[in-house]
Amino acid sequence: MIRIFLALLLTTTIFASYVDRFRWNNGETYLVFLQKHKLPIRPLYYNLDKDDQRLTEEMRAGVHYQILKNSAGEILQLLLPLNDELQIHIYREKGVYKFEAIPIISTTKTEAFATKIVSSPNYTILKKTGSHKLVQIFTANFRHSLNFKNDIRNGDNLVMIYEQKYRLGQPFSMPILDAAMIEMHHKNHYIYLNDDKRYYDEKGHEVEGFLLARPVKGGRISSYFTKHRWHPILHKWTAHLGIDYAVVRGTPIHAAGSGTISWAARMGTYGNLVKIRHADGYETRYAHMKAFRRGIHRGVHVKKGQIIGYVGTTGRSTGPHLHFELRKHGRAINPLHVVQITTKKLKGKKYKAFLRLKKKYDEKIDFYLKNQTPFIKPVKFVDECPLKS
Ligand SMILES: [Zn+2]
Repeated sequence: MIRIFLALLLTTTIFASYVDRFRWNNGETYLVFLQKHKLPIRPLYYNLDKDDQRLTEEMRAGVHYQILKNSAGEILQLLLPLNDELQIHIYREKGVYKFEAIPIISTTKTEAFATKIVSSPNYTILKKTGSHKLVQIFTANFRHSLNFKNDIRNGDNLVMIYEQKYRLGQPFSMPILDAAMIEMHHKNHYIYLNDDKRYYDEKGHEVEGFLLARPVKGGRISSYFTKHRWHPILHKWTAHLGIDYAVVRGTPIHAAGSGTISWAARMGTYGNLVKIRHADGYETRYAHMKAFRRGIHRGVHVKKGQIIGYVGTTGRSTGPHLHFELRKHGRAINPLHVVQITTKKLKGKKYKAFLRLKKKYDEKIDFYLKNQTPFIKPVKFVDECPLKS
């Protein structure tokens, strides 16, 4: 726990306030958290609507949060980051504690580095950057096409260009890979993030993922994934941690990937819900189902593409649709970023647009390679009130 003392000048009184930093513990729940800090449970949980209550379940172990207290040790404000875009803000107003969800303000920087491989790409990236996340985004996109074990030699080149979010000078959240190059047998292999948010190799072939693009056929996407959005009717910040497919009632729902059913029953606002546990800590969720397919129970293994149930409107739902979620180690991620269909090749106008984008990245990659641009470690600084954003 780091304690930062801040002298906050208030217009009427001068108080010495300070910010305490904590880490969300493994298995800690929001209710336990409130009790631990002697915060009132009724206004900060039981009186909240279902959407806000659902948000409180999104807190994950390891997340850092801050509490602003006055000199008497009373909590004035606290911020609990739910994901990289939305946070819970608890604050005291006229002696009463209030709850709201507000966006996290962050800046995004494009960063890049080039390096010579020692031993393996994973080892090299980790050693150079100290970031497991950079290792993850690199290997996730190359591992289906390349054999790192056998085809890499010491001294081969590697370049990564990616977007990193910063909050208060510190990198946070998963970086997004824009482009990368790895040398094998004197040949350079590339991947690029195209405008359609999918990865392609240098020939314009999509890099294959392990999940189906969409678990239902036909219909349209009626609601996209957002980690924070302004609800026009409720007039508050909330999140939509999945994708909604508006399709007719009874449409079969296919398992997006092979795995084991970990839940097939009702669950609150999700209605009839199926959860499937996949490899590498991935989980998919299929909500508002009319019915489960016969034989779909907890513990059953399903294959990618297998029918698991039928579209309905159970739970909190305004009409028949499939609410589809993808989670990694419990954390919701945008299915459209990871989920890819069988390899397709870009054609026509789309291919031409891709070539323009590719040219831009190739020039950058060449530049970083020539200069052997090093990875720059972010400088730590904590010189402003962490509760400002
Ligand atoms: Zn939904």
